[in-house]
Amino acid sequence: MHKSTAITVDLRSDTVTQPTPAMRDAMLAAPLGDDVFGDDPSVNALQDKMAALLGFEAALFVPTGTQSNLCAILAHCQRGDEYIVGQLAHCYRWEGGGAAVLGSVQPQPLNHQPDGTLLLADIEAAIKPDDAHFARSRLLALENTQGGQVLPFDYIEQATGLARDKGLARHLDGARLFNAAVAQASKLGRDGGDIFTEARRIAQCFDSVSVCLSKGLGAPVGSVLCGSRELLTRAHRIRKMAGGGMRQAGMLAAAGSYALDHHVARLADDHALALRLAQGLTGIRGLRVEPPQTNMVFVELEGTVQARAAGLLPYLAARGVQATGLYRLRFVTHLDIDAAGIDHTLALMRDFFTG
Ligand SMILES: *Cc1c(COP(=O)(O)O)cnc(C)c1O
Repeated sequence: MHKSTAITVDLRSDTVTQPTPAMRDAMLAAPLGDDVFGDDPSVNALQDKMAALLGFEAALFVPTGTQSNLCAILAHCQRGDEYIVGQLAHCYRWEGGGAAVLGSVQPQPLNHQPDGTLLLADIEAAIKPDDAHFARSRLLALENTQGGQVLPFDYIEQATGLARDKGLARHLDGARLFNAAVAQASKLGRDGGDIFTEARRIAQCFDSVSVCLSKGLGAPVGSVLCGSRELLTRAHRIRKMAGGGMRQAGMLAAAGSYALDHHVARLADDHALALRLAQGLTGIRGLRVEPPQTNMVFVELEGTVQARAAGLLPYLAARGVQATGLYRLRFVTHLDIDAAGIDHTLALMRDFFTG
């Protein structure tokens, strides 16, 4: 490929995907109602589908993952309660402090281990006794994948078991739950485990699970929150309060249903492309590349190479490749990235750092 071709390799996030022609057809064909009256058949179908897939009583379609986490935290916690959460978790760091601002729910952030987990001892130590000095520890919130890493399943069982034993509810921000399930299934045996079985095994450790449709699954908009009917009745009220009651939302929900039918297994392709990128970058001096577990590649710049970092993103962007970060670069693969795009990116990276 040469420079004059209009190339766009957008590796900033898996949120940038465009709905495929077949997904658009499904959206146009969707039967619609008014979801605030509860009678949009396409929204109801998506909710039923996700609840059944993950083994929950009920599910709620929400416009964003941020609102989904907010609905969950506020449904689990009252004013003056707290949720235990990772320092880098989306529902602590990247959601405008919504749980605190809108719910008077205090976060208790904990540092992550290098594998994305929170130490069980740290969780246990953060759970406050019932004492007037303290906020009431009410909820443990985990994220999977966390920064592209798959939380080990044994760990999830232990952490959520600990929380349950201490009387805490458990929420999973599973924005990329299916990326975790695909990676986990492929590790199990030669033929791989079943992706939906793995997704359900992870989900069933929690009282509520939020899944994004607009990340690797490739839908334009939306997340789904799963839980018990009782919890979701509370979440439904909070969704309305937050302005998330949508009307003919079935056009959006149909994209989500289409994605669940057609875009889950193919996440393995994104993971393979991330690996191809990481392996290619590993050969470049001064770059330290984390072996990717799913669809995100993180790259640290070492030593003298750091000085050149500021010029890198503009250099790539001028040649059709978009990424984020500065000292820790992030490349995210998705539905609209192919091997040619990855190889173009690798060629540019080699030229920039060795040229
Ligand atoms: C993207 C993301 C969200 C929020 O989703 P939005 O739809 O952008 O609000 C929540 N959690 C995680 C882990 C995410 O990656």
